[in-house]
Amino acid sequence: MEMRLAALRKVLERRKLDGAVLTGRANTFWLSGFTGSTSLLLVTRQQAFLIADFRYAIQSRAQATGGITAMEIDDSFHVTLERLLARNNVRTLGYEGDVLTVSEFEQFKERLRTPSRYVNLSADLPELRLRKDAGELEAILHAVGIGDAVYREILPEIREGVKEADLAAEMEYRMRRHGAQGPAFETIVASGPNAAICHATATARSFRPGDAIVMDFGVKWNGYCSDMTRTVFLGEPGPELRRIYQIVLKAQMAALAALRCGILGSEADRVARRIIADAGHESHFGHSLGHGVGIEIHEDPRISTPSADMLEDGMVFTVEPGIYLEGIGGVRIEDMGAFIGGNFRNFTASPKEMLIL
Ligand code: ZN
Ligand code: ZN
Repeated sequence: MEMRLAALRKVLERRKLDGAVLTGRANTFWLSGFTGSTSLLLVTRQQAFLIADFRYAIQSRAQATGGITAMEIDDSFHVTLERLLARNNVRTLGYEGDVLTVSEFEQFKERLRTPSRYVNLSADLPELRLRKDAGELEAILHAVGIGDAVYREILPEIREGVKEADLAAEMEYRMRRHGAQGPAFETIVASGPNAAICHATATARSFRPGDAIVMDFGVKWNGYCSDMTRTVFLGEPGPELRRIYQIVLKAQMAALAALRCGILGSEADRVARRIIADAGHESHFGHSLGHGVGIEIHEDPRISTPSADMLEDGMVFTVEPGIYLEGIGGVRIEDMGAFIGGNFRNFTASPKEMLIL
């Protein structure tokens, strides 16, 4: 963890800051190990303080890792923070611009006396968590394994008349039974015409023969997320669904096969997009090919048409092409993996040949 503080201090140096105050859960967890819901993490050039209230006093002392002093607030977060800022002469302060609300930021400026300049670090921070270390890769691999187990177990539950929402509930129950903290995001079970909606959740619609059923789900385990999608069919699908399944599968396998260490996100995206476009479905694949996964379900790198992100060792990301036909249904297939030792390793083990239940 001290290496992580050192990485943040490099950002402070580069941006000529005396310190940064972190309020987001993801960066706080990554830097300090603290899992509580509220805290301020003040990192200066020399010191680091995890400020928590009474509810988290014991937890923050227990979780705060080397190089971080756990502090309980004495009056309010602002009073405690201001005292530390003054004592450490923090005149220039970085903050998480994509986490802090406008009101919270206004309160900082109103109540803190010491800082005279604030710098938004939202463009600088994502790179800190971009390359996962061995422990993080292990946690993510474990989370993906739970996803695979849940998928295997719920296939027999998919029958005519079962509601999307009931299957989603069953999946989330099984995630916890397998030791997950819970779902990494709201479980998507989208059937029939709903399968054409990329970010449908799960409704009261019951499965019917001929449905494509898209299941996009992930779990959180030890603070790290997994993400996978499988599309199965209940009874014989129509010719269009059958065709797009094979196109999406071909695009997904081609993109995975094209992954070389150092490939750009845009290049990986193009491999899958070209196959889908050549089959006449360019306009039916309206999202990016993939995204990074870690403490958060969506993080860097981006695997999309405009992405200049270079995919390298330690980066964990998804490959998830899809085709969506309004009124008919949709198909998405999503695996996730990482570059390890220069090679891409697919973490997702679930089969993806067309499955008709
Ligand atoms: Zn997903
Ligand atoms: Zn995803």
